[in-house]
Order: sequence, then C-alpha cells, then structure tokens
Amino acid sequence: MKARTLLLASFLLCSLFGSFLAAEQNILVFLGPPGAGKGTMCKKLSTVTHKPHISTGDLIREQSKAQSALSKELNSYLEQGKLVPDEVIFKMLIERVSQEDCADGFILDGFPRTLDQAKKLVSIFPDKDRLIFVNISVGDDTILERLQGRLICSDCAKSYHTSFTPPAQENQCDDCHGKLVARVDDEYTVIQKRLEVYKKEYAPIQSFLKSNYQWVDVKNHSADECYAQLVNKVNSINTEFLD
Ligand code: AMP
Repeated sequence: MKARTLLLASFLLCSLFGSFLAAEQNILVFLGPPGAGKGTMCKKLSTVTHKPHISTGDLIREQSKAQSALSKELNSYLEQGKLVPDEVIFKMLIERVSQEDCADGFILDGFPRTLDQAKKLVSIFPDKDRLIFVNISVGDDTILERLQGRLICSDCAKSYHTSFTPPAQENQCDDCHGKLVARVDDEYTVIQKRLEVYKKEYAPIQSFLKSNYQWVDVKNHSADECYAQLVNKVNSINTEFLD
C-alpha cells in the first residue's frame, strides 16, 4: 500500500513537472561503474560550468541521515550495495532537478542505473540534442584500489584517498575540517556486490542509449587525462554543454 502510494505520488510529480523539466536544459549524464571517477569529473565540470552536479548517491546519503522510516530503508540498501527502488529515486531526482538552479541544465551522476531508469530519463527529457551521455570505463583492479582507500568528509562530502590524495591532517577535511569517514558501501564485499549489480544492469542501458543518443566513451587511467578527453569529445558534439 505504502509503495503504491509512493509510486502514484512520483507519477503525479512527473506529470506536474513534466512541462517545466522539458525546458531548455542541456544535460550531461555520466555513466560508469562505481569508482570510475564520475563524481570527480562531475565536480570539476560543475566548478568550471557553474551547472549543478546532481548525484543520486549523494541525494540518497543525505536523505539516509534523517530519522525516518525511509532513511532506515535507504541505509539498508546502501549497506548491501543494492539499488534503491525506482519510485524512491525518481521522486528525489525530479524534486531536485525541478529546482531553479537546474533551469539551464545540470550534470547528472549515478542515474540511470537500470534500463527502466534510462527510459524514464529520456521520456522526461525527450529532446535528444539536449542530452549527452558520457560513459567512463576503468578496470576492476583500479576500482577496488580506489574504493577501498576512499574517505569522504562527513560534512562537505569532499573525497580523499588514503594513498593517492590524502588529507593534510589525518582524518580531517582540508576544506571544512569535517571528520573523514569511509562510506558504508566501500567495504570489500559491498564493492563486489555493487560491481555485480552494475555489470548486470549496464549492458541493456548501453544498447538502448548508445546508438540512439549522443554518446561519448572515455577511459579513466588518470583524472587529468580523462577530464581532457571528455571535454574534447563533448565539445566536438556541442560546445554549449560546457559553456
Ligand atoms: P553512488 O554514490 O552513485 O555510488 O551510489 C551509492 C548507492 O546509492 C548505490 O549503491 C545505490 O544503493 C544508491 N543509488 C544511487 N543512485 C541510484 C539509482 N539511480 N538507482 C538506484 N539506487 C541508486
């Protein structure tokens, strides 16, 4: 009953915001496995373009901190490395991208994660010219190395790595002095689960989107090289996305 009410509410929201959301928004959509560097690329692009970086993972982690039945449920998905149900994620995403700062476009990270989500996204934003999908690929060994050493600031969410990008002071954020913590889902067995989910869901998303939509592939051997590649490739399709 509760799930049905949520589902209905999310469809109502979609119809209500549908016309607003279909406005002239250029949307860069980042795809790739956990640890591919999507967050790093999106944050950098957001600083350069002044367009908001919308990470569905961040939205969920933020919501999971509240004291509510929903937050308990979200924590359980996070801890197990499982995907949060579509109706929950749609509602969060639509509420966020309906805010005024997204009116000129935004950078989407972590959505879509399933074929249904991909179909939903392109139905809400039907103008193909205004979507570019950026697919980042990276090897499993690199993913494990990156995620197992990752630390996140519990206040501002800035990301560090114990070996590659350590903070100046142990366990303290350089920017806001918040406490650095490992994410609950960066534990070895949960990383394996997240990779398994990604591998299962990604192929149908790619075959649906790659041949029908503007799409670029980049490899993430190093952050600088990956950033340069994606800027070049996105600009070769349309320079307005990174204005
Ligand atoms: P991320 O920060 O993108 O690695 O996401 C962390 C976790 O949030 C994922 O393992 C899922 O549990 C959940 N999540 C993020 N985005 C989605 C999505 N689009 N659909 C379902 N669950 C999601």
